[in-house]
Parts: sequence; structure tokens; C-alpha cells
Amino acid sequence: MPPRAPDPDDDGLAERLRQIVGDRRVLVRPGELRAYESDGLPGYQLRPSIAVFPGTRDETIAVVRLLAERGVPFVPRGAGTGLSGGALAEGVVLLGLHRLTRIITIDAENQRAVVEPGVVNATLTRLASAHGLHYAPDPSSQTACTIGGNVAENAGGPHCLKYGVTLDHIVALTVLLPNGAIVTLGNDDGEQEGYDLLGAFIGSEGCFGIALDVTVRLVRDPQAVRTLLADFPSVMAAASAVSAIIATGIVPAALEMMDNATIQAVEASIYAAGYPTDAAAILLIELDGAAAGIDDDVARVARLCDDAGARGVRTAADAAERARLWQGRKKAFGAMGRISPHLVVQDAVVPRTRLPAVLAEIQAIGERHHVNVCNVFHAGDGNLHPNIGYDSSDPVQAQRVHDAMSEIMAACIAAGGTITGEHGVGLDKLPYMDALFTAPTLHAMCALRDVFDPDHRANPGKVVPVHSCREWHSVRPPVAGRRP
Ligand SMILES: Cc1cc2nc3c(=O)[nH]c(=O)nc-3n(C[C@H](O)[C@H](O)[C@H](O)COP(=O)(O)OP(=O)(O)OC[C@H]3O[C@@H](n4cnc5c(N)ncnc54)[C@H](O)[C@@H]3O)c2cc1C
Repeated sequence: MPPRAPDPDDDGLAERLRQIVGDRRVLVRPGELRAYESDGLPGYQLRPSIAVFPGTRDETIAVVRLLAERGVPFVPRGAGTGLSGGALAEGVVLLGLHRLTRIITIDAENQRAVVEPGVVNATLTRLASAHGLHYAPDPSSQTACTIGGNVAENAGGPHCLKYGVTLDHIVALTVLLPNGAIVTLGNDDGEQEGYDLLGAFIGSEGCFGIALDVTVRLVRDPQAVRTLLADFPSVMAAASAVSAIIATGIVPAALEMMDNATIQAVEASIYAAGYPTDAAAILLIELDGAAAGIDDDVARVARLCDDAGARGVRTAADAAERARLWQGRKKAFGAMGRISPHLVVQDAVVPRTRLPAVLAEIQAIGERHHVNVCNVFHAGDGNLHPNIGYDSSDPVQAQRVHDAMSEIMAACIAAGGTITGEHGVGLDKLPYMDALFTAPTLHAMCALRDVFDPDHRANPGKVVPVHSCREWHSVRPPVAGRRP
């Protein structure tokens, strides 16, 4: 049956959904659906036709089977903190999973937990901490984003430099395929048998089905942690300190950079962390591991920062100061969002050695287009997040932001980099896919998607450009003034 867009009044679909999840958990009125028009990138606004919020695993399965029976497309959604427009549903069913919040088991001995997809990332770590364990991938949105959303985006975070991204911390998934079948990918031992379908699913951005039960690896809390704040007179000096630190072979748990515009925004907000407001850039460097020897590594890293021209390096005195330094970093997007109506955030990755050159080019592009580019990013991974605050109701401004961002992405690709490190392709990065992949490679991606969802009903129109796959539904071109 070819997929079709649902009309809430048509065929009594909304009524059937209400019978499964209850009256209050199905939304059809435009005013109610408005809350689900955007994700973390407010420049995009697309409205679903129906939003449905199952509260249990069985309800979720019943909803997906009903949609399969009727050939209706749907978009899974966790907390909606995504930064690529991935959870947006245009005229199709939005399937919210944030009510599935059960921690099914925590097996401290084997360092595993099984959780439902709506569990919030930071909640899992909070509960695991009673056993001296934590869930390592820590997106800056971790107090809101869900484990299901993390799986779908293969999320990263500051501490993924040492510990690896989501893919390295999921050992098994129960997946609800778009046709309603349930499959198990991976196993509790974390060993791979046959094709690595678990690896294929992680990062599939809601296009391969729904992550239902997620078995995660838990990591033992480190014996010792040191957090350093290094203050630099130029972005280039900070970037060369990053290369120097990595070149020693020391792998910091985290190595994050913030430029002056970001520091100013954070310090003017309720997340003020005591960052030096006259610094051109700061590095937050965290070292962790065995207590023996950690202070030698701290001294070595501090020396490397000095050699690169740091004006000062200080170590957080206690856990409270450490938490404050991290809060400023993790809430930086929020602090920037406060000072302009819209914020566009990019997510390019460049080889670490190219950081100084690419950062200089980004600055030049911003100046050329008269936009203020702020940088806050995972420097140790070369994962840049240039972002620009703007007012989308001003079409001239919106066009300037769009042109600047397109040039920034082209510069990152030309430097041997790529278009997403952790936020996914979603809608936002679709226009860059052709620049990165050949037609046969895009075709292979479509063929893989066909295995999980031959009708392309799950998250239609995302990740792979429509001309590469035969989509039922074309992606709308950008609306002038609404998105950069
Ligand atoms: C302030 C801020 C900071 C951020 N920092 C980081 C960071 O450091 N690192 C990082 O990686 N990301 C970061 N993000 C982006 C975002 O938080 C992550 O992509 C996160 O993984 C999204 O989770 P979510 O629950 O909000 O998913 P949503 O935004 O709801 O959905 C994201 C995608 O996942 C799909 N999806 C959701 N749940 C499921 C499921 N159960 N099964 C299948 N598909 C599903 C959706 O269809 C969509 O394609 C940040 C976002 C914000 C707003």
C-alpha cells in the first residue's frame, strides 16, 4: 500500500488512536500541535497532522501496527532537542515517545542497564551513580534529551573524546520496525554476530523504525577528575594548544573551546561560570582516571597551554566549581538563544590539525556577510559548532545567515571534513549530502533503508535527498525568511 498523508477526520484514524492511548494523548487541533512544530532549531516550523503519545510499550506497538495497516507515515520524537530538524513531521503522524520512561533493569555487576526510549540521558546517569557508574555519552542537552533520541542521532557530547559516542555504549536494541514487527539487534555481551545491524540502526535518525528497549553499557566513575580552565589571547593560540595536547598522547576526558562571543553570552546569563570575559578563547580541559599520576598530566597540559600562549590556567578547586564550569559550557546554546529570536547551529567536523585555518576562514566568512559567528565546540574531536543568532522575520538577515552558513559548510568540506559530527542530517543538512557523497553511495543508503522500511513511512523526507530515493513525499524548498 503506498504511504499517504493522514487526515485526522479521515477513516477515524484519530479515534482509533484514542482507543489505544486515551483521549488526552491524541492531538489534532492546530493550536495544540503548534508545540510540536519545531525541534531545537526554531528556524524550521512544520506541523504534523496528528500527534500521538503512547504511555507504554504495548500502546506503542499497537499504534505502529495501526499505522502500518493503514499505510500511514510517522515521525518518532523524543524530547525534540534535535538540532537538524529530524523530529519534524509535515502533515504526517508525530509519534511522541517521551512517556516511555521506565528503567527496566540496572545490572551493576555487569555494568549494563536496559531502559525505555523516553528515559532522559541525565536521569540514567543519576540513577547509575548510586552504583559508582555512569552513562558516558553526555550531550550538552542531557538534562532534557532522551536515550531513544540519542540512539537515533548517535549523539556525542564533551566526554565522548575519551569515552566514545552513543554507538560505543549501546550493546543491544529491541526495535519496532515500521511494519510493526519486533526485532532484536545486538546482544548483552556486546559481541557482533553476522551483519552489524545494531551499528546500522544507531544514527538512523528515526528512518529505520523505533528504538524500544535500549541496553546500554555503564562506565565506572573515575577515581580522580581534574578540570582546567585555560584562558587565551587568541582563538589561534587556543587551537594550537588543542593540537599540542592531543599530540602528547594524553587523551583528556573532554577538551572544549569557547570563543569570546560565547563567553560573553554565558557570563551575561544565569549560567555565568566565572569565565574571563576579556579572553579571546578559553579551553575547558578535563583529565580523569587513576589518582596516581593525574597531577603530572595536569602539570603537563598546563605547560602546553602556557607554551601556546595562555594568559593563565587554573584548576577547579572542588566539585562545585567543576560543576559551575561545566554548566556554563553545557548551557552555552541556551545563553545565546536568549539574546536573539533565532539561533542556527552548525555541526561540521574538520581534521584537528586544520582547526586554526578553518576557524580563521569562518571568521572571515562571518565578516564578509556581516553576521556574528560564535564558536563553542568539541575541540578535541575537531567537531565545530559555529552558530549565528539572528531574526528570521528579517529576510535580508536570514539570507545573509544562510549564505554564511553555506560557505562555512563548504569550507569544512574543502578542509577534508564532514557535515555532521553528532546532530545528524535531518532536514537541515540535506542540501549538503550531494556535496559529500556520490550518487552510488547515496543509492546504497537508500537500499539499506529499504531493508528496514521499504515503504519509507518512518521519518519520510529525511537524511537522504529525495532525488536519491523514491520518496512518496517531496521535501519542501526553504521558505524565504523562515530558515537560514
Ligand atoms: C542546548 C542543546 C545542546 C545540545 N548538545 C548536544 C551535544 O553535545 N551532543 C549531541 O550529540 N547533540 C546535542 N544536541 C542535540 C540533541 O540534543 C541530540 O541530537 C539528542 O540526541 C536528541 O534527543 P531527543 O530526545 O531530543 O530527540 P528528538 O529531537 O526528539 O529526535 C531526534 C531524532 O531522533 C528520532 N527519534 C527520537 N526518538 C526515537 C526513538 N525512540 N526511536 C527512533 N528514532 C527516534 C527522531 O525521529 C529524530 O530524527 C543538543 C541540543 C541542544 C538543544
